[in-house]
Amino acid sequence: MKFEKEINRRKTFAIISHPDAGKTTLTEKLLLFGGAIQTAGAVKSNKIKKHATSDFMEIERQRGISVATSVMTFEYEGFLINLLDTPGHKDFAEDTYRTLTAVDSVILVIDSVNGVEDQTRRLMEVCRMRDTPVIVFVNKMDRDGKNRFDLLEEVENELQLSLHPMTWPINSGKDFKGVYNLDNKSLRLFAASTKGEDEEDTVAIEDLNDAVLDAKVGDRDANQLREDVELIDGVYGELNKADYLSGKVAPVFFGSAVNNFGVQEMLDTFIKIAPVPRSRETTKRTLSVGEDKFSGFIFKIHANLDPKHRDRIAFLRVCSGKFERNKYFHHVRLDKDVRFSNPYSFLARSKEVVEDAFPGDVVGLFDTGNFKIGDTLTEGEDFYFTGIPTFSPEIFKELVNKDPMKTKQLEKGISQLTDEGVAQLFTQFGGNKKIIGCVGDLQFEVIQYRLLHEYSAACEFRTLPFYKACWLTSNDQKKLEDFLRFKQQNSAADKDGNPVYLAQSEWFLNTEISNNPDIQFHFTNEVQ
Ligand code: GDP
Repeated sequence: MKFEKEINRRKTFAIISHPDAGKTTLTEKLLLFGGAIQTAGAVKSNKIKKHATSDFMEIERQRGISVATSVMTFEYEGFLINLLDTPGHKDFAEDTYRTLTAVDSVILVIDSVNGVEDQTRRLMEVCRMRDTPVIVFVNKMDRDGKNRFDLLEEVENELQLSLHPMTWPINSGKDFKGVYNLDNKSLRLFAASTKGEDEEDTVAIEDLNDAVLDAKVGDRDANQLREDVELIDGVYGELNKADYLSGKVAPVFFGSAVNNFGVQEMLDTFIKIAPVPRSRETTKRTLSVGEDKFSGFIFKIHANLDPKHRDRIAFLRVCSGKFERNKYFHHVRLDKDVRFSNPYSFLARSKEVVEDAFPGDVVGLFDTGNFKIGDTLTEGEDFYFTGIPTFSPEIFKELVNKDPMKTKQLEKGISQLTDEGVAQLFTQFGGNKKIIGCVGDLQFEVIQYRLLHEYSAACEFRTLPFYKACWLTSNDQKKLEDFLRFKQQNSAADKDGNPVYLAQSEWFLNTEISNNPDIQFHFTNEVQ
């Protein structure tokens, strides 16, 4: 393999969590270990505190073109780690789903007090679709959380994920005494500190019956730990790495991100077991990560909301070969050759022009409107990467033009914004009603604001009674056409012209599914 050395030192991942579980805090600690930042507090939360457009806009303006926080690259123990940021707000969950198509593994943060929450469930669904390897970090052990066995059971049942404890906590809340590392059999004593982990707080324990354990944590907790560990060892044994890599089993760590406790154990294991970039499926063939020729795809497009710099950055994930500055690559959808004189990388959190990039890397490309989510660049071959689906929106509204003189601007604006992936656009059959689908209400406000400020187009939204979009296929074209005609009010075409059924409720959807056995209803636009 030509680029074997480069490929084998890269780990590209994302941290996912329900808001407030501790994603930002954990990110910061990892960057501290990686030496990418020097002080705590350097990572700004991308959280939208109030449910307000102004808040979102302000964050976006401050972030400028937002590259520095979109991908954070750091080195640790000889590995090059790309941490892809995901938005904290649930209204932008689609952005997170797309980012998950560009990573090789994830770390899932769970709040030990709240357990599995809404966003956790949805994000894990996306991971399951792709069999993404997951490491779980149970955070906030310094708070009175749920019983640890109950919590693991809850996670296993609710997320349909088998867990494998790697460390085991001694109590929680104010009695939290530390974690026992089941793998290297050492005890790390808890000290509330933000500085980092202290070697002196680690005690190697060859034999759990050693009196040193009682001396460190007291008889009662020592005995409890002995019991717990016996039980866990009996149930779990050693971690099967292949099961982790295929997404079947998730190793679990306990800790407290804000105290930088239990984080290093996780990072050290991550380095050992997390996958390096792997081969990927395309519409034509399996693409081996080790191929000499370059290929990659766009998973995110970010517009700059600063009116003085109205440019966009398209984020490219390299999948094979070597990306090079100023070299011509083939833009498959547009069937033209393009090159980039200022591609960016994100080493040490500052934006830098890169000369080259390898599988697993993410490069920021200046875009003047050439890219859509899912676009592929190659050295000439025509294919697209599969597994980059669009998910059904959850809120649907009709786009109403408020200024007939600005129809062109509105159409251009909505077309570009939907290319960026801000929302999905559907056109109703038999009419020309434009239907915008989003995951959250905040996105509608963002669209309205951006249409007005960037395209001088005024619009309104009219709420529609739909709850889900299903993509339709059938071997019987006539039956499909008939269905679309009969259900005109509920039928639309997505941006690429694919037929979509807009269901009012689960009941309607189930009725149509059972009444139309010749038509397949798909919940993503990717038809397997
Ligand atoms: P995010 O929304 O997932 O990015 O969560 P943040 O990292 O912003 O954390 C949310 C809140 O939880 C902040 O106030 C953190 O200081 C706090 N927090 C994070 N980790 C811990 C922890 O281990 N223990 C406690 N008690 N609080 C924590």
